[in-house]
Amino acid sequence: MDQPEDDFFALLREAQHRLDAGFAGLPPAPLPEMGSEAANVLDEVATRLHDNYPYGHPLYAGQMLKPPHPVARAAYALAMSVNPNNHALDGGRASSAMEMEAVAELAKMFGLPQHLGHLTSGGTFANLEALWISGQLLPGCAIAASDQAHYTHSRISGVLRLPFVEVASDRTGRMDLAALECALEAGDIGTVVVTLGTTAIGAVDPLPEILALQKKHGFRIHVDAAYGGYFTLAGNLGSEARAAFDAVAQADSIVVDPHKHGLQPYGCGAVLFRDPAVGRFYKHGSPYTYFTSGELHLGEISLECSRAGASAVALWATQRLLPYSRDGEFARGIGKGREAAIAFHRRIASDPRFIAPVAAPQLDIVFYAVRSKERTPEASSELAKRVFECAGRLDLHLALAALPLRFFSPETFPGYPSGNVTCLRSVMMKPEHLTWLDRIWQRLDEATTAAIS
Ligand SMILES: *Cc1c(COP(=O)(O)O)cnc(C)c1O
Repeated sequence: MDQPEDDFFALLREAQHRLDAGFAGLPPAPLPEMGSEAANVLDEVATRLHDNYPYGHPLYAGQMLKPPHPVARAAYALAMSVNPNNHALDGGRASSAMEMEAVAELAKMFGLPQHLGHLTSGGTFANLEALWISGQLLPGCAIAASDQAHYTHSRISGVLRLPFVEVASDRTGRMDLAALECALEAGDIGTVVVTLGTTAIGAVDPLPEILALQKKHGFRIHVDAAYGGYFTLAGNLGSEARAAFDAVAQADSIVVDPHKHGLQPYGCGAVLFRDPAVGRFYKHGSPYTYFTSGELHLGEISLECSRAGASAVALWATQRLLPYSRDGEFARGIGKGREAAIAFHRRIASDPRFIAPVAAPQLDIVFYAVRSKERTPEASSELAKRVFECAGRLDLHLALAALPLRFFSPETFPGYPSGNVTCLRSVMMKPEHLTWLDRIWQRLDEATTAAIS
């Protein structure tokens, strides 16, 4: 075992003793024995888990994945020994209080003067809650989102039995304002989903201009910042993205996923409402849940019933260690990923073997096509898959994504006005990606040479 893991378990053991001390007055009730059979099972688990990409390593530069911060992992493990349920105060008093504090930090990060919100199992459920509230306030009115919005928005609308309208995006992946205005004039749109950081390419929809349209047409605005939300702390955004993040507090609801850029274990999304009065829609009089005090139980403002209190504890601990200030270490980490993405994009753009998109990265996602002599999307897609495989053999793990041809200049694939091309894609979400850029590039270079020959 290497040194950092030893330190991790030493710190965890110390904290566990402190936690156990709080219950030392009780008669002993030992845990079930963990004998050799349990050791065998754990050994098997460890071996099974070899079948994973090395998500924590900087040479994993593929999908939107990164391991939680060690303090989050330790806090989560500690909380697991209590296993609180943040449905009700009876299930987790301390962890419920920590959830309220952690959610207030998220609201503060976006500049919300007041809020109602809670953690969820993830971004999908958080978006479901936001759109459910939209449907409660504006029954039967449509949800509109761009063709680059997360695929779950149309499904969520279906679950909620609300009409869904897809709005075209432009060549940079942002929602097309003319297309939105057309849709607003044509139909009964109740809510516009504004994605600040699309999952595929990190495009930032033009929120200030959409707010201007809201004055004219009147609709709710839901900001889906599941992936992109934490970029509001970055000091190196382009001016359009900066303006969009600066306007977030004017949205009616916001979703952000601490389990994406917030260094949390999976199972941690968040939904925030600007108007706390929407809490009235959550009211329920269930006789079998266990509310035994007049204080607010998180289960009274959440659609999910049982929720992991450990998630809240882990998020709270991470925020204590790495506060969400614009000049803090956490913000610098977000900015570094973006810096790495811009530098990577520049190298791609100046290498004739690759084709860079028309727009530079808006956040920290880089994507590019591979140039083929046929100049067709099919041939380019095949080459991208070969580079992906060759890179994997060199321990550089990238991702593939089929993206619209319009993201590239029209002369890239002559005779192909529309369609998709399979691209290579890297989410540069670890701060270490910046210092590893040369080593990443060297492997990409080698993989590309192997794939092309
Ligand atoms: C990831 C993502 C979601 C879905 O969130 P999950 O946590 O995976 O459920 C929704 N919207 C956007 C923009 C995302 O990036």
